[in-house]
This record gives sequence, structure tokens and C-alpha cells, in this order.
Amino acid sequence: MAEPIRKIIIAGGGTAGWMTAAALRTSLAQDVEILLIESEDIGTIGVGEATIPTIRLFNEHVGIDERSFIRATEATFKLGIEFQGWGHEGNRYFHPFGDYGGTHEGLAAHQIWRRLNLAGDHTPLEAYSVGTQMAYAGKFFPPNPDPRSPMHDYSYAFHFDAGLYARFLRQHCEQRGVRRLNAKIANVNLRGEDGYIDSLTLDDGRVETADLFIDCTGFRALLLGGALGVPFVDWSHYLPVDRAWAVPTAKAASPAIMPFTRSTAHEAGWQWRIPLQHRTGNGHVFSSSHISEQAALDTLMQNLDAPPLKDPMLIRFKTGHRQRFWEKNCVAVGLATGFLEPLESTSINFIQNAAIRLLELFPAKEIDPYLRDEYNLRNQASYDYVRDFIIAHYCLNSREGELWRHCANMPIPDDLQWKLELYRRRGEVLIRKFDHFHEPSWISIYHGHGLRAAAYDPLADRIPLETLSALMQRRREGIQRVVAQVPFHAEFIAKHCPSE
Ligand code: FAD
Repeated sequence: MAEPIRKIIIAGGGTAGWMTAAALRTSLAQDVEILLIESEDIGTIGVGEATIPTIRLFNEHVGIDERSFIRATEATFKLGIEFQGWGHEGNRYFHPFGDYGGTHEGLAAHQIWRRLNLAGDHTPLEAYSVGTQMAYAGKFFPPNPDPRSPMHDYSYAFHFDAGLYARFLRQHCEQRGVRRLNAKIANVNLRGEDGYIDSLTLDDGRVETADLFIDCTGFRALLLGGALGVPFVDWSHYLPVDRAWAVPTAKAASPAIMPFTRSTAHEAGWQWRIPLQHRTGNGHVFSSSHISEQAALDTLMQNLDAPPLKDPMLIRFKTGHRQRFWEKNCVAVGLATGFLEPLESTSINFIQNAAIRLLELFPAKEIDPYLRDEYNLRNQASYDYVRDFIIAHYCLNSREGELWRHCANMPIPDDLQWKLELYRRRGEVLIRKFDHFHEPSWISIYHGHGLRAAAYDPLADRIPLETLSALMQRRREGIQRVVAQVPFHAEFIAKHCPSE
């Protein structure tokens, strides 16, 4: 029997460090020691407030009560993302966390929609998405588990204050036995015989050893990139944005806390608007090759809808990832693995997946190369598919401006080209294993950017047009009925998750 891991050090205490600590503490035997080292002097990146629905599975897995979480992190509900000006100037569409009507006799609703649409029915596809309709009405109510209900086929995520989430997780972890040190890691010491990490020297001279090291040191990637020298794979040629200005503003006037993130395209990037209970997060993500930092800041400040609460903060980043995510006895999680711009709020989901995958393939003290390589393959696949999902937003556009023209004409990955072609020909949506997004998400992006299938699934011809039309009308009316009945988002929060 291989010797088990007895002690783990997590280097870094941002969202990645504390989420990993919570996941490991929940699933590993209590006698496995977990030590988290973070430096309050260095601090955390301070952004990262929008999520996708899988965050709920994570919270559930580690035993976090949803209402306590919402209260502690000033969270709001998120039904999806509204895209303004993406595709072309003046365009508006919604990426909902939910379906456009499931299937009928094995036929996807979007195929039925296309058949009706080609026959002259101009009802927008969005009319069949309960999540979209609720979001546009500024309302929120959790889904109904009964598949016959029009309130069934959607999901939700959260917007939250990342600093408060890390604090909340820290308390949760410390109560369950995770030890924490506030110190700066001054040196990473490697073993002579095999180059594994042996220990970390802290700036006060203490030395901490462990069997397994988790690198959550953010963009610094102190262990994986720094000490172990795993190279960075640069993807800026696919996703050229490389900077963000971020600034919080005063909270939106109730009941106008919208249950969605807004992404507005600008001349050389895009602006996020993330409503929290106590304030609104804003940022302008841009390509420094296409606009100056000052002009990007001016764009952000001119497009705020409330007074700023702080000075704007500039964050520089490079799109891409470390060539390997697990090297020797070190696994990186979070920004230490790399970064894809926050357009689809995927980074926290990467953290969650990395932590859960590590548990699925958890090693003994002597690292099994098969487990390590499988871990690297799964994470690589995740990165590839999320990259392609984000590229789809850029390459399917007809906006003016140098950045947008570049993205519309740039060579794209073969797998994405294949996916686009399948959709263009017959509305076929290809989802790969380890993709973070399901079919409706891809449809919303294709459709929102104006991509239409040339033909629909011929199986739709076996059902009379009138039957399909009546079916879709029932769905649409069912959605209108329930959306009229559910409460406004702010009212729902006040009633179901009141402050203590
Ligand atoms: P950090 O927050 O940088 O934490 C690093 C930790 O390492 C800190 O505790 C630091 O003190 C510690 N550390 C570093 N060096 C040392 C040392 N020498 N000694 C001791 N400790 C050290 N993600 C989303 O999911 N949704 C979003 O909406 C979103 N928006 C984003 C917007 C922007 C502009 C950017 C850049 C990122 C965004 N992200 C978003 C990503 C998200 O912010 C991160 O994935 C998340 O915060 C995790 O960061 P981290 O913990 O890996 O790194």
C-alpha cells in the first residue's frame, strides 16, 4: 500500500486558496493536515464577483447554507448575462442559464423554433427562455423541480463580493481544522534527488514542509511557474484583451438590482456591470494594443450609472495557461494556472473544477504519473473549450473598430471552426466532455451574434407545423404567466435572505 499524503500546504488565500481548502477539508480524512499560508501585505486580486450555476454545487458540497452565504457575501442572484452591442452596434441579447424549452418527441426546442421561423413565424427565440424573460423583467424566483412547470428548465448563479466570500470560507475552513499562517513565502525549496518541492521558507525564517503543495499564489504562480519552471502558453493571439480597469459604484436603487451581469461592448473591449446588494462592480476590459490606458479609463468613467466608491484599479493580465497544471508534487489552482478574460465568469468555475478533480484523482505520497497526466488532460480540455466559447463572442461580430475587425478575421481553433460549421449547416450544437457550458449557452451566443442555421433538423417535419406552433405558443404563454407572478429580485432577496 502506497504511503498516503499526511500534510498539504496551500500557498495563497484568495478565492482559489480558500475554495481549495474548503473542498479538501470536506473530503479528506480529518488526520490529513491542511495548512494555508497567505500574505495580508500582498493581498488578493480583489475582483471576481460573477459566477455560473455550478458554484451552487460547490457550496453544497462543502456544506455552506445558501442563505447564510448570500447574507455574508452581499450576494445577488444571477440568471445570466445581458450582452449589449456585441455582434453589432445596437444589438442586445441574453445568455441565460437555462433552456429554450427542452425537447419534444426527441426534438430540441431550438430546432422547432427554426422550423417555425423559416415558415414565417418571427417570434424571437428568447421568448421561449423563462430565465431571459424573468431577467429582463428584473424578477427572480428559484426553479420548480417539476419538469411540467414552465419554471423548470433554468438555473441560477450568484454575484458576490469576492473579499467577503474569501473571509466567509476562511471562517468555515478554520472551524473545520484548517490552519492558517499570515506570512510571506520567501523561498520554495526543492529536493535535490527528484526536484519535488520539499518546503517553503517564510519571511520570518520559519520553514514549513508538506507532502503536497497547492499553488494558489495568483498570477505570480510562485511554485508551479516560479520554482518548478512550468512554462506559460500564451493565447493572446486568440484573445487580445490584456488589461482591466475596475471600480465599484454605489448600490443601485431598489428594486432595480438586476438579476444578471451586463456586458457592454466598447471600441476596444467591453465593460462589465455586476450588481451586488451593497454596491455595483464595474470594469472595462480592453486591449492595450488598440486603446490607451487613459482612454480606456475615460470610457469606463463615462459609462458608470452611479458615483464611484473608490479610485479605479488597473489590472494587467496575459491570456493563456501553464503548460501543465500538476507538476511533481505541486498542483496549481486559480490564477496560478492561467487566465481567460472574465467575459463568461469562468475563473471561479475553473477553481472549483480543479479542486474537485484533484479529489477525484487524489494521489499518494509518491505521485502516480497516470493520475497526474489525466488531471492535466482534463484541465487542458476545460481551458480549450472555455477559450473557444469566449472566442466565439469575438469572431462572430460585425462591429467597426480595429480590435473587432481583427477578431472577425483572425484564424480560430479548428475545433471551434467545426462547431460553428455544424451549427451553421443544421443547427447542430456540439458539446465536448469537460466543456463548462451546455447546449443552450452555445445556442444563445450563436443566435445572439446573428448566426442562423441554414436548415433545421429534418425530424421536425414528422410533426405538423400547427402542432409545433401550438406547442411553442403554450410554452410562451406559460412563461408570460409565471413571470407576471414572481417577485422582483430585490424583494425576493429581502424576503428570503434578510440581513440579520
Ligand atoms: P489572488 O486573489 O491573487 O490570490 C493570491 C493569493 O496568494 C493571495 O492571498 C496572496 O496574498 C497570496 N500570495 C501571493 N504571493 C505570496 C507570497 N509570496 N507569500 C504568501 N502569499 C502569497 N472570476 C470569476 O469567476 N468571475 C468574474 O467575474 C471574474 N472577474 C475578473 C475580472 C478581472 C479583471 C480579473 C483579472 C479576474 C477576474 N476573475 C473572475 C478571476 C478571479 O478574480 C480569480 O479567479 C479569483 O479571484 C481567484 O484568484 P486567486 O485566488 O487565484 O488569486
